[in-house]
Amino acid sequence: MFNLILFGPPGSGKGTQSEKLIKKYHLNHLSTGDLLRSEIYNKTPLGLEAKSLMDKGHLVPDEVVIGMISSALEANPKSQGFLFDGFPRTSAQAEALDKLLQLKKTNVAIMLALEVSEDELVRRLLKRGETSGRHDDINDTVIRERILEYHRKTSPVAEHYKKTGKVVKVAGIGSVDEIFASLCKEIDKKIAGQNHN
Ligand code: ADP
Repeated sequence: MFNLILFGPPGSGKGTQSEKLIKKYHLNHLSTGDLLRSEIYNKTPLGLEAKSLMDKGHLVPDEVVIGMISSALEANPKSQGFLFDGFPRTSAQAEALDKLLQLKKTNVAIMLALEVSEDELVRRLLKRGETSGRHDDINDTVIRERILEYHRKTSPVAEHYKKTGKVVKVAGIGSVDEIFASLCKEIDKKIAGQNHN
């Protein structure tokens, strides 16, 4: 199995790049944002609870997203690997993920961290808000709050994976294809290294 985390602040292009990466490397895409939006769409109790937090730009509780990821892993026992997008977003989620993967006798192979300046993030998110229908992309204050949450709670997740030398930074500026090429280069290097061992 080859499991990768696509990491980066809101608006850094994780969703766009994930779509391309899962096709090329035959991975299962696990986006907690998408899973939560599907719960909201289906008006489940979990979705209703999550919606009020998401609309404010806050994170939903760890146990909720960990539960969703655990079910998704169980639902795909034959997967060749998972691409985690928007997860883990806290240190507790990172620890839970490591344990879940350990149970499957596998681990996180690499964390690719997209780097984009804050002004560019806000610009992209407001632009996405014009067409996406996402409430959290329309309001400048909510966007700023999401970026603050990222600095407060999510950046420590990169420290967690730095300890095991798994973090590779990739510039998230340029065309979609240029960024995709940079990500693929790092993944191919990692796969070549794994096969060599
Ligand atoms: P973006 O990265 O553009 O903010 P996402 O779709 O990944 O978009 O997330 C949207 C919202 O869903 C977040 O602001 C947060 O409220 C919630 N969310 C998504 N993933 C997680 C997670 N792993 N832990 C807690 N909350 C999450």
